Amino acid sequence: MFKGIVIDKADGTYGARVRDIDESELPPGDVTVDVQYSTLNYKDGLAITGKGPVVRSFPMVPGIDLVGTVSASDSAEFTVGQTVLLNGWGVGETHWGGLAQRARLKADWLIPLPQGFDGRQAMAIGTAGYTAMLCVLALERHGITPASGEIVVTGATGGVGSVAVAILSKLGYSVCAVTGRAEEEPYLRGLGASSILDRATLSEPGRPLAKERWAGAVDTAGSHVLANVCAATRYRGVVTACGLAAGMDFPATVAPFILRGITLVGVDSVMCPRADRIEAWNRLVTDLDLSKLETITSEIGLADAIPTAEGLMNGKVRGRVVVDVRK
Ligand code: NDP
Repeated sequence: MFKGIVIDKADGTYGARVRDIDESELPPGDVTVDVQYSTLNYKDGLAITGKGPVVRSFPMVPGIDLVGTVSASDSAEFTVGQTVLLNGWGVGETHWGGLAQRARLKADWLIPLPQGFDGRQAMAIGTAGYTAMLCVLALERHGITPASGEIVVTGATGGVGSVAVAILSKLGYSVCAVTGRAEEEPYLRGLGASSILDRATLSEPGRPLAKERWAGAVDTAGSHVLANVCAATRYRGVVTACGLAAGMDFPATVAPFILRGITLVGVDSVMCPRADRIEAWNRLVTDLDLSKLETITSEIGLADAIPTAEGLMNGKVRGRVVVDVRK
């Protein structure tokens, strides 16, 4: 038996609780992992609280990220004792995830823990941080460099936002951090933001085109925020869209695309091919300042993950939350 969070939906009542799980309950898979750390991402918050239709079958162990040691393997690629990392692939949504002390997974979903990080650091980065890196790689792929001009990051105190600000500033970009939490200005400046913008200035319907301001964007918000970011992106600028913290809609016009030639790039971490994941993780080793990562990170135990997920959904959590599932 081991401990884990289990989400049930019995008689229409949705609920998550920590309970003992029998090994025989684990789903099929070719690699069994003794989990050390998992994390809380926005999607885990939706899954645990039931505020979004993330969980596709019940009962479900949430947790889209995990790091741990292989305890049994039918795969030639992974050996017992090896430390492995998992992000996404529907784990925590359609397949039991990382918020438990043991997981059984497909070898294809795993990558060896990148050299340069310990398990806790890899989970401090987690899906949020690896998505931030995918956004930065997409900006680069579309020709953006520090000389192009300022990059705007929305949801800047959140997990994706905090890591994006830290990476971009280390790479030499000038970063405008958009936040709804004015009191977090010192935190954002500490991560390397050069200017701070009140989220409210982007949250309402805006004009099709605004004054040209940003060369690029990492948008975690969607909805009016994304539309206003596009409207204020400079000629031939590049906007990466990865989130929906403000909403799933995109109430924009084509004006920034056909008059300023801007590019909107969608970023997905869940089904991202393995080679791209490994590239992103390798770049995180060089492009993320570990002392900044530490200031972004808080750590909790398994039982605290349920109340903390509520806090995450209510905008009360800053940065990244690591869950030590052994506690
Ligand atoms: P967090 O909860 O850590 O951060 C979200 C941040 O968004 C908040 O901290 C807040 O920042 C901001 N925010 C909250 N409400 C609103 C609002 N109404 N309007 C605008 N901004 C708001 O989540 P993550 O960083 O983990 O994820 C961010 C988004 O990215 C989520 O929508 C998530 O689903 C998505 N995501 C997508 C991935 C992909 O593969 N495409 C992977 C990972 C995440 P502040 O207070 O500073 O404004």
